This record gives sequence, structure tokens and C-alpha cells, in this order.
Amino acid sequence: MDYRLIIFDADGTLRYCTVEGQPCPNRAGEWELYPGVIEKLAPFDWVHPGEEPGVGYGIASNQGGVGVGYFPESTAMTLLEDTFREAFGFSPAEGTIEMCPHIPHTGCGCRKPDPEMLIRLMKLYGISPENVLFVGDRDADKNAAINAGCDFQWASEFFDRDPEL
Ligand SMILES: [Mg+2]
Ligand SMILES: [Zn+2]
Repeated sequence: MDYRLIIFDADGTLRYCTVEGQPCPNRAGEWELYPGVIEKLAPFDWVHPGEEPGVGYGIASNQGGVGVGYFPESTAMTLLEDTFREAFGFSPAEGTIEMCPHIPHTGCGCRKPDPEMLIRLMKLYGISPENVLFVGDRDADKNAAINAGCDFQWASEFFDRDPEL
């Protein structure tokens, strides 16, 4: 299937945390891309919102550490932008990186598995759910895709890597 928009989770999908026992990076220098991510993304004809033909892109990331107070929202966004730049090889357009900075289980409405972040990205591009793929590593990602009405693929399948990595 030729998708017109592919949205990615960040942690456990594009990047991993290099700090032992810590699930997500809290600051610069605490993450690396998984092997093979750059090579897998390179052949796509990525386009910014409003451009076509090509494939739109986006990131939708739960950053509950912001709400809990581990790091400020601006840091979380900078880390996501840096991750995107390294993975895709160019800077993300305004609005293409969605993040939920809220405390888990407070019913904010945007934290995955709620679909709000995916829906905002689809609206940004003006692309309907049947032409959209979300790639993630957690059940919350899969359920967010189901709730948004788009397709889902596990990161290990999309990137052809060992699920245990
Ligand atoms: Mg993840
Ligand atoms: Zn939220």
C-alpha cells in the first residue's frame, strides 16, 4: 500500500535511550537512533505539509516525563526535533512533531492511545485516515492508530529489526 502520510512514534521506534534503566532520554546525549533507521527512511520522497506528490511525515510522542517534572516541555520538543533531523536528514516543518506532555492517566485527550495527535497530523496534511500509516512499538500506539482509523505497523517490522533490540 502506498501511504500518503507516515507518522512515527519516537522512543522505542526511531530512537532508544542510552542511559541504563531509563526508558526515555531526559537531555541531549541520552539517545541514539536504532541501527538502520536512516537507511530505511532515506528512499522515501518525503514532503512537507501542502506539498505533493510524495509522502508526508510526522512524529507523535507521549512525553509523560514533562508532566511528571523530569524535564521541561521545550527540552522534550528539542530532543524530538533533533531525533527527526538525524533520522530524516532535514528539519521538520512547523506542526509535524506532536507531543503529549501531560501526566499519564489524567485524561488529557491527546496521550496515546487517544488519537488526537494522529488526527491533528492528518488534518495538517489534509489526508484521510485510509491513506495514513502509524509506526510504533507499544499497544498504546496500535490502539491510537485504531482509534484514529489509520493503519498500524510495528516498528520492528517497518524497520526490519529484531523486536528485542
Ligand atoms: Mg514508543
Ligand atoms: Zn496529553
